[in-house]
Amino acid sequence: MKEVILVWLRNDLRLHDNEALYKAAVSACHVIPFTCIDPRWFQVTHLGFTKRGPHWATFLLQSIADMRRRLQSIGSNLVVRVGTPAQVVAELQKATGARWIYTSREVTSEEIQDQLAVENAMQQVGGKVKYFWQSTLYHLEDLPFKSIELLPDVFTQFRKQVEKTVRVRDIFPIPGKLPPLPPNLLEGTIPTLQELGLKEPPQDRRQLVHFTGGESAALDRVKTYIWEKDLLKTYKETRNGLLGADFSSKFSPWLALGCLSPRYVWDQVQKYQAQRVTNDSTYWLIFELLWRDYFRFVALKYGNRLFKKGGIKKDRRIRWIENKTLFQCWMEGKTGIPFIDANMQELAATGFMSNRGRQNVASFLTKDLQIDWRWGAMYFEHALIDYDVCSNWGNWNYIAGVGNDPRENRYFNILKQACQYDPQGEFVKHWLPVLKPLPASWIHLVGELSPSQLQSYGIELGNNYPSPMVNTSRWMKT
Ligand SMILES: Cc1cc2nc3c(=O)[nH]c(=O)nc-3n(C[C@H](O)[C@H](O)[C@H](O)COP(=O)(O)OP(=O)(O)OC[C@H]3O[C@@H](n4cnc5c(N)ncnc54)[C@H](O)[C@@H]3O)c2cc1C
Repeated sequence: MKEVILVWLRNDLRLHDNEALYKAAVSACHVIPFTCIDPRWFQVTHLGFTKRGPHWATFLLQSIADMRRRLQSIGSNLVVRVGTPAQVVAELQKATGARWIYTSREVTSEEIQDQLAVENAMQQVGGKVKYFWQSTLYHLEDLPFKSIELLPDVFTQFRKQVEKTVRVRDIFPIPGKLPPLPPNLLEGTIPTLQELGLKEPPQDRRQLVHFTGGESAALDRVKTYIWEKDLLKTYKETRNGLLGADFSSKFSPWLALGCLSPRYVWDQVQKYQAQRVTNDSTYWLIFELLWRDYFRFVALKYGNRLFKKGGIKKDRRIRWIENKTLFQCWMEGKTGIPFIDANMQELAATGFMSNRGRQNVASFLTKDLQIDWRWGAMYFEHALIDYDVCSNWGNWNYIAGVGNDPRENRYFNILKQACQYDPQGEFVKHWLPVLKPLPASWIHLVGELSPSQLQSYGIELGNNYPSPMVNTSRWMKT
């Protein structure tokens, strides 16, 4: 009888460039792909919301359904189970007699605990787990540093060394044909949001961007963004935009769940450069992917420090405030600061927020309100459709000033940022229609309007729009 390999799909829900799946497929063993939907992802945290939220969960379930269809198209199927990885592995090992698990190597604590639990379950039956590094553009083993402890703490140093010396590895092809599941093994139904204890996110007419989970939609998006709409050639100029689908690539939700391989994006950019144009913009998309890589390597270097109050810097000087009332206003987009509220309402309604928006709302929470940055990171984990443990917690460390930012006390002047990136107030007006009557010159300065001006624009502070939580004039001095 053929040996069985279980391929545990985690944040690598794709057929293309999937080393674990490919190596299993060419091994002459019987391959059984499976995935676990872990109920612990949907437990309620001490802040009152679930660890992961409905936008992310919807995207995950769509990605799993698409992966199943794609595996079926090459003769196989995806076994889906709700349970912790250790429970699921114990069940599947017993049912199939597998001696091997192939899977992606993750770097953060909860994911590592899962790996250890799975290793333990396999060891009990004399089985083993084989790991593959497959979420970054540059492979861990190719880094030009003798050990991960020598990873530079400044991004630019990392980038320059990597760009100079490392080659992006070739993509693994899609496996040709896989065997069907054994007849006695049930494929398992994909649960609904309700079965996971979540509510359907309400439809919001303000939503302009709609994401569909899965590799098929990911490849479509790459094709549309890079080739059909030809947007790559202007990416550097448009990437700080706020409104609409096309100012940036929007690859992040697919990259986060591994429906899209960063090496595939890199490969497409090389082809685009050869066939259409090479310029700062075509380079800049790769530059941003390097940030993504960097935060993953930083997580590997610093381990659990990423999640601690003092951050990777172990900085205990900052006195963080734990004020749930202020935090609630921030989460709900009811701070009275239009630029912050518009961004936070977009996040709640869609699961997405631009990079510019994320930097501003994170800075506002940590520098203006001085609320514990980890609360912000936890809310993002709940709300983001593109939640990625390393990028999220790494960026929050950075903005809160406990991470890798070489500049001490970086501070975002929210008014300045709002006027620079939303000069006509279109973004604010889109998400906060009550402010539509305001002229561009006042849109970011609601708190500075006189009572008669407010009345003439139909705004009642504390009634149809919140009174500002902080005095806007603090941003007018600099
Ligand atoms: C506080 C905070 C939290 C964040 N949390 C996440 C997160 O959970 N998941 C996530 O994918 N990104 C996160 N980011 C990074 C960034 O905001 C998003 O990757 C980006 O906005 C996604 O939109 P896009 O795909 O159109 O990006 P593009 O501008 O088109 O960039 C292309 C890709 O590069 C990567 N990238 C770009 N900027 C960054 C960055 N600063 N850090 C890491 N990778 C980057 C992403 O994979 C992105 O898809 C966070 C940023 C901040 C400031």
